[in-house]
Amino acid sequence: MTKPTRIDPSDLLAVGDLLSDEERLIRDTVRRFTEERIRPHIGDWFERGVFPVRELAPELGALGVLGMHLDGYGCAGADAVAYGVACMELEAADSGLRSFVSVQGSLAMRSIHAFGSEEQKLRWLPGMAAGELIGCFGLTEPDFGSDPANMRTRAVRKGGDWVLSGSKMWITNGSIADVAVVWAQTEEGVRGFLVERGTRGLTATDVHGKLSLRASVTSELAFDEVVLPADAVLPGVTGLRGPLSSLNEARYGILWGTVGAARDCYTAALDYAKSRIQFDRPIAGFQLTQHKLVEMMLEVEKAYLVALRIGRLKEQGAARPPHISFGKLNNVRTALEIARSARTVLGANGITTEYPVLRHANNLESVLTYEGTSEIHTLVLGEAITGESAYR
Ligand SMILES: Cc1cc2nc3c(=O)[nH]c(=O)nc-3n(C[C@H](O)[C@H](O)[C@H](O)COP(=O)(O)OP(=O)(O)OC[C@H]3O[C@@H](n4cnc5c(N)ncnc54)[C@H](O)[C@@H]3O)c2cc1C
Repeated sequence: MTKPTRIDPSDLLAVGDLLSDEERLIRDTVRRFTEERIRPHIGDWFERGVFPVRELAPELGALGVLGMHLDGYGCAGADAVAYGVACMELEAADSGLRSFVSVQGSLAMRSIHAFGSEEQKLRWLPGMAAGELIGCFGLTEPDFGSDPANMRTRAVRKGGDWVLSGSKMWITNGSIADVAVVWAQTEEGVRGFLVERGTRGLTATDVHGKLSLRASVTSELAFDEVVLPADAVLPGVTGLRGPLSSLNEARYGILWGTVGAARDCYTAALDYAKSRIQFDRPIAGFQLTQHKLVEMMLEVEKAYLVALRIGRLKEQGAARPPHISFGKLNNVRTALEIARSARTVLGANGITTEYPVLRHANNLESVLTYEGTSEIHTLVLGEAITGESAYR
């Protein structure tokens, strides 16, 4: 482990020195990719509400970040912290980019990897790891978000087939997915189904008017008596444990990703404060501005340490859902507060897409809500420390 030799304002505690050489290499490689391929365009994509998935997915596949933490089937088999630092750099560019990677790898691919048959894994995972095939994950419904146990989407057996009816809402990658992992009630309990693009009775409609995660595709999926073959069901799991365990993986990516978004806001504010002159001096020289910058810096570093601690626990097989809730609740909230404070340092410039801070702040509103709202993670932690469940 190296000793910090100089003060780096973007990582004053030198938390990055706690990473292994390989982890730093992954961090720097992903950062370089985002500097070259994402940053020059992201403001425009956000403004226009587009995300060029078909173009970017193979590049993300070549970078090795799709299903990065899974073993075999063309996946990189990376450790938890290596995957975490990749998420940190992706989300430093934009939460929409990290969302794409999380949904593809941690939700869709992970569900197939953990619960699929060998045929299903061979059919989908190598192409998804390469970014040639795109997946989505359908759990939320128009009437059931935090409470998926009451979902209405239903699959019934008919002869050797299944017939799927219902709808899923707020599905990232929904209309562009080659395969949807759809969770539905059955006589046996909740089961996962693989629904291929173009299947008769499946329609996907994009959600418009989003003020958050604009560089990300979000859709509603409707299933009108969709007939699926017997082998469309994921054989390895029955019950909500299936989707919830995949969500736990995706939340892990979020608790790292938001450190990246927070750092990006803080460093944008720091750079701006050093060059913006008011009252004949850089605004960085005013005590009130320094207070904001120092608070941001403290919180970025603390969030980074939280992520690293949870990552190391995960590598030891010791990360439990409350640990993940701790990181998701703390780090998203922290990132959002930093983004808002950074926006004030940039004054009027802070409201434009020329700078990343309001884009991050708007994105983080979605991140606060999806994959378990901040209230639900508070309840997970409340139960963990009191032994009392307060969901109902
Ligand atoms: C951009 C975006 C992308 C998404 N992508 C996906 C995806 O790919 N796949 C997918 O399945 N879903 C996805 N979601 C859906 C997301 O997971 C849900 O929005 C989330 O679970 C919350 O559900 P809801 O929006 O229905 O809110 P609700 O569950 O209706 O909650 C509304 C409010 O009530 C609070 N609340 C609910 N229950 C309790 C309680 N017991 N105690 C205290 N407060 C409570 C909530 O915390 C929240 O503040 C996405 C959402 C967004 C915004």
